[in-house]
Amino acid sequence: MPDRYEVTYAADATLAEVKPRGTAPSVVTKRRLRDVNRFETISLVKTPNAEYGHMALLEVGKGCGRGCRFCLEGQVYRPVRHRSVEALRETVRKFAADGSTRVGLVGACVSDYPWIGQLLDVVHDAGLEVSISSIRADSLTDPLVAALARGGHRTLTIAPEAGTERLRRVIRKAITDEQIDGACDLVRRRGIPNLKTYFMIGQPTETMADVEAIPALAARMLERLRVPDGQGHPFGRLTLSISSFVPKPWTPFQWAPFDGAPSLQKKLELIKQGVRRFSNVRVLHENPREAALQALLARGDRRVAPFLARAAALDGDWRRALREWDGDPAFYTTRPRGTDERLPWDHLDVGVKKSGLVREWERALAADAATSLTTVVT
Ligand code: SF4
Repeated sequence: MPDRYEVTYAADATLAEVKPRGTAPSVVTKRRLRDVNRFETISLVKTPNAEYGHMALLEVGKGCGRGCRFCLEGQVYRPVRHRSVEALRETVRKFAADGSTRVGLVGACVSDYPWIGQLLDVVHDAGLEVSISSIRADSLTDPLVAALARGGHRTLTIAPEAGTERLRRVIRKAITDEQIDGACDLVRRRGIPNLKTYFMIGQPTETMADVEAIPALAARMLERLRVPDGQGHPFGRLTLSISSFVPKPWTPFQWAPFDGAPSLQKKLELIKQGVRRFSNVRVLHENPREAALQALLARGDRRVAPFLARAAALDGDWRRALREWDGDPAFYTTRPRGTDERLPWDHLDVGVKKSGLVREWERALAADAATSLTTVVT
């Protein structure tokens, strides 16, 4: 409850102190579910009007051990806890009995589920089709892609996140170009007609060369994808889904400035321009101004509350609410923050140590410096 804490501000408007009132604890600690097998997380309401309403969703576990530096989920749901195949088998049985035909596996990184092969067999033996939202290119295997193809998957999704290996190292999504090539080959070998890829622009240390590398990578992928599959069917469509990096609390990138809508818009144009010549490449993206709003809300403090209240009073017209709000969005979004700044969420303990985040942030910047050095030397 925010009113159980008294907040004071420094002359530069940053937080000076957060003091508990009365019996409020000085640090609020998140509770953690220790035995994930005791609870099944599944779709309870299924309706065709909802996203994924056509499938029964099943969470295979919580947490992700990969530690991508931009990812909130990878940090706050630690430690990694997988549900056992036996526990999942029970749920799959229930799905089959209630007439479901497709199971959507949900989790931070489903392809890292250690018994994925057995689980796919369980779903298959129950007569259901399987769906997975996105797969790490470095954990794609032939049996996994084959199972997805068998389950009627028309599109496989991978998330390289950045166009260059350099930037992928900085964000700690160390997928190599070679692994992306391998994913393309598997997709064609198993006859999946479409490939969708997630990229994120505006990440720390990103340069225009990193942005230009996205359409260049798309062109290279297309070269490999162009081959007909085993049945002689041509490749369908390559989708580039481009999101904007929004710094999130409790991540190593919580100190990174948000890029800003004009810069993101320019980068989007560059990517769209770069793939315009390919009729089977589609670019999907959000509006950078909405990303700027997310950036404000993601790291805003209680002084942002009047903006939210105004937006609600205006029936969600956040653009007008923003114009009428007397706060400064740039203070929360594009302003660089030092690691010694007190952050509005520092008194909430979600299980990640701030010292560890600082170390990871410094490592990210060092990864960039190391790469720049290599570039100069070679
Ligand atoms: S981006 Fe995906 S792989 Fe990386 S930490 Fe988050 S959930 Fe895990």
